[in-house]
Amino acid sequence: MVIETVGVIGAGQMGNGIAHVFALAGYDVLMTDIKQEALDHATTQIERNLARQVSRELITEEAKTEAQRRIKTTLKLPDLGQSDLVIEAATERETVKDAIFKELLPHLKPETILTSNTSSISITRLASRTDRPEKFMGFHFMNPVPVMQLVELIRGIATDEPTYKACHEVVEKLGKTASSAEDFPAFIVNRVLVPMINEAVYVLYEGVGNVKSIDEAMKLGANHPMGPLELADFIGLDTCLAIMNVLHDGLADTKYRPCPLLTKYVEAGWLGRKSGRGFYDYRGDTPVPTR
Ligand code: NAD
Repeated sequence: MVIETVGVIGAGQMGNGIAHVFALAGYDVLMTDIKQEALDHATTQIERNLARQVSRELITEEAKTEAQRRIKTTLKLPDLGQSDLVIEAATERETVKDAIFKELLPHLKPETILTSNTSSISITRLASRTDRPEKFMGFHFMNPVPVMQLVELIRGIATDEPTYKACHEVVEKLGKTASSAEDFPAFIVNRVLVPMINEAVYVLYEGVGNVKSIDEAMKLGANHPMGPLELADFIGLDTCLAIMNVLHDGLADTKYRPCPLLTKYVEAGWLGRKSGRGFYDYRGDTPVPTR
């Protein structure tokens, strides 16, 4: 199947990055969200990120203009029905994703490949509630999408080989590298990464270190480019908590118990960079630790 048009659902930090890389690779992109502000913000963000790539001489001014021309936005989900490939990148909540697929399915052409950028939810379960489990897969980008090389491709139990192959070719056309993961909670990267972040929050919770000492220790002591708490803020604390809950529920092992302090930050609406405050406060010129 030839893929030329791509529908992106959710214009948050992942959705705008996904639209950006597809448009640069020559695909026509239609992006939707429930909020006009999210679409406007995503359009501005894409412009800014493309401009940065031009200033670093990674792409030309013409490529930037062409990519921007290829991205259209809509508030109406059914408008995505004619896309060859749909990537759902809305909020990490199963009920949200189910409702999106339910509304979209009656408008979707039969050959469309349907995918989710979910960080942790079962692909097989999401697929089973659609009319095309064999044409459903996990298409998992890393954050920030224009920078990170990896895409995890996750087959559900029913995913057929032509669908997998078509998605694999798309990843190659994007200039990225696909890694194949089985459909178990949080796949590969987040199964390893997010429990480490959760452990860093326990270390903070138990008073073993403060935000600054924990991040510095992991940067200088383990050679991580970002500290775990800084990284948590970057991912979004709500997304981190959702992934821990999926691991805890799906693997039924107490080692995946979300740290109560992580829950507390999410309850406060301190979700990290995207809300202006998380383990750091981003409202001033430089991030200030909140503990
Ligand atoms: P985000 O909170 O930045 O954006 C989510 C967007 O979805 C918001 O703009 C919201 O308005 C929109 N939305 C909510 N309900 C919707 C609906 N019914 N229809 C259309 N849009 C809707 O979240 P994000 O970080 O971009 O994460 C999106 C998805 O990508 C999640 O499944 C997450 O697990 C996954 N993901 C996140 C990361 C990360 O580092 N943040 C990495 C890989 C994958």
